[in-house]
This record gives sequence, C-alpha cells and structure tokens, in this order.
Amino acid sequence: MTFEELELDDALCHAVAEMGYETPTSIQELVIPHAMDGRDILASAPTGTGKTAAFLLPACQFLLDYPRKQPGATRILVLTPTRELALQVFEQAKAITKHTNLVCGVITGGINYGTDKETLSQNLDILVATPGRLLEHIEKETADCRDIECLILDEADRMLDMGFSTVVNQIATEARWRKQNLLFSATLEGAGVRNFANDILNNPEVVEANPSRKEKNKIHQWYHLADDLAHKQALLVHILKEQVTTAVVFVKTRERLQMLKDFLASKEVPVCWLQGEMPQDKRNAALARFKSGDVPILLATDVAARGIDVPDVSHVINFDMPRKADVYVHRIGRTGRAGAKGTAISLVEAHDFEMVAKAARYMDEPLKARVIAELRPKNKTPKIGPRKKKVKAKDKTKARSKAKVKKRK
Ligand code: AMP
Repeated sequence: MTFEELELDDALCHAVAEMGYETPTSIQELVIPHAMDGRDILASAPTGTGKTAAFLLPACQFLLDYPRKQPGATRILVLTPTRELALQVFEQAKAITKHTNLVCGVITGGINYGTDKETLSQNLDILVATPGRLLEHIEKETADCRDIECLILDEADRMLDMGFSTVVNQIATEARWRKQNLLFSATLEGAGVRNFANDILNNPEVVEANPSRKEKNKIHQWYHLADDLAHKQALLVHILKEQVTTAVVFVKTRERLQMLKDFLASKEVPVCWLQGEMPQDKRNAALARFKSGDVPILLATDVAARGIDVPDVSHVINFDMPRKADVYVHRIGRTGRAGAKGTAISLVEAHDFEMVAKAARYMDEPLKARVIAELRPKNKTPKIGPRKKKVKAKDKTKARSKAKVKKRK
C-alpha cells in the first residue's frame, strides 16, 4: 500500500516522501483509514512502529478537509508523557505540515513561560503538550481547550505510570466539545489503560500493531551471563569498544547511572547521559551531542529515555534488566526502527533470569545466550525452561507404579 492509496492530501504525501517514508508501516495502514472516518481509536503500538505519523497524518488530513473559518484556539491536541517525546512529536508535525499552512506548537514543562505565551498567542492548529504544563495554563486561563476537535493521547500507558491520569481527565473535560479521540499505548494490557480508555474514548476501533515477520525480526536479541557486577562492567566495556557504533545503555537507577558513567570514563569510553530531574537545557544538550554522533553512547534510566527518537541506534544494551516485560519492549524499540537492523543485548546475572524468560515470552521469541571468549562466565546458565506441563492422570499412575517397582528392587 502507498500513502496516496490512503487518500491523503498531496501536500502530506509530498512531505512524507521528503521525510524518507516510502510506504506506510502496518500501524499506519491500520489506523489511518478508521481515523479518517472519524472513529475513535484505541491502538497498541510501541515506539518505533511509526505510531506518531499514524495519528498525525489523519489529524492533518482532517484540518485540511475542514479548514478553519476564523482565527481561534487549538483544534488538535496531542498529549505526551515526557518533554522529549513532546518535542519529537512537534518536530514530526512540523515536517508533515511543511507544505500546508497549518500551524503547530509545543508547550512543556521546563521551558520558560514567555515562550509558551508566544506559542499560545498564535492560531494553533495542532498543539503538542505535556499534561502538567497545559493544565497550569488552563487554570490560569492562558490556554483554551474548548475548540479542541480531536484529542490524541500518546504513550497513554506511560502517562498512567507517571501519575497523569487525573490531569489528563481534567484536560479531557476541558476539551469536552471534541469529536474524536485517539489513544496510543505500548500495550493495552492491564486494567489501568482499559479504564482510562473507557473514560476517554467513544466506541473505539481497537487496533493492534501486529508487525509483520520482517518488521519483527529486524531486532537481534541476545544476552550475556555475568557472574557479578565487575564481570558485567567488563562485558560492557568490551561490547562498547568492539561491537558498537551507537548505543543506548539502560540502567535501573540514577545512582547506578552515576557509578557507570564514572567507571566508563575511567576506561576511556566517552558517554553522554540522560536522567530524570536534569535541567531541560542539559537534557537537550546531551541528546544533541548523541544525535549528532558527537558522543555515540548514551546512558539513560527508563524515565529519562522514555519516548526519545534517536534514529539509527545500532545497539540497545540493558546493563540492568527492567522490572517489567513491557519496559523491555520499549527499551529495545530504540533500535531497529523503520526498516533498520538493530541489536538488543542484555547483561544478566542469575537473579535476572526470570525477567529474561518473561521478555522472551512477551516478544514470542527466545533470547539466545552469547559468550565472549575472554570473558566467559564461571557460573552456569540457570535453568528456566518451559513452564511445567500438566501431567495427565494416566501418566501420573504410570509414574507411581514405576516408582513402586524401583522401590521393591
Ligand atoms: P515512531 O514509532 O512514531 O516513534 O516512529 C519511529 C521512526 O520511524 C521515526 O524515526 C519515524 O520518523 C520513522 N517512520 C515513521 N513512519 C515511517 C514510514 N512509513 N516509513 C519509514 N519510516 C517511518
């Protein structure tokens, strides 16, 4: 299928061609027609599937089909959980609307209020925002959401994790005249997302990105067994020096990040890093150094790295395994994007094996073990094996009688 066949305006097709998109991804093919019919959408699509364009393209098409008759407030609102994600969605919105007169803006925490004022004073067609800062503006009556026609929630699961559900519901109430809602989430599992969707959406079309085998297989995943922290660090240095062009390395806490950055500095591996509660200018500077290729290795915690769009990362390395399988999926979504090949390497100790098994079940693909000859683990790979099969009653009886025979002998 082509973008033209999705009946998108020439201006939008022209823009996506310039952005290097040749054909729609599966989530785009699935979402765009329903969204253009005005349906609410509940979509499961992790980062890396092309979800941003899946909601931006139909939103822009709507704005082109029903142009604004008079100046006024924002018509499309996109809410994202983090600042970085908001900025990326905004950048994509600008690129997609390049050949139209549509006006896009972004407001997030960490940016000065004067800039927000300028942004909000325009006749914005599309506003991308983080929930906290937008609600502040609504309360101060410096932003008006009553003209919103379409509300888009990006990475809704993460918004819930970050405690934004009340704020998002308040904003949704403010935007009560809207006609359409699109909700995107990495997974639709769990009561949290379902309840949130029930509150916000009307009879949604449920769409699950079911990546084709080709899309699915492009991330090679394996793990290295480590005996202890020192072994893990040695493996990391080896991998970063020998195998990697660009990598995001995930750690579980800020303390761990500090420790690892100092350790890598002592081994002369240059890194930049992102952590929560870092001033916005420092975060932007770190990301810019990484994106420009200046420093090809980025250390990050999950909170800090949520939603960053870094093209062409050759490797994602889990220095620490995440606690949940869906976080694993998010992390590895930073590599192997839109057709590129990627590698996800997990450094695991024996106590991480339960998580390795969970991730494999979640991905429906085993994670294979790899060994670096000079850094072979002393410990044996723990057995996780398949879940215990139910033993049929008949077989149980057989087993018991065999045991009895053995005893008698
Ligand atoms: P997303 O899932 O929206 O974060 O998109 C992941 C990456 O894929 C981004 O770098 C997009 O620019 C890129 N992308 C989105 N749609 C397409 C497409 N149809 N063809 C090629 N690349 C795409």
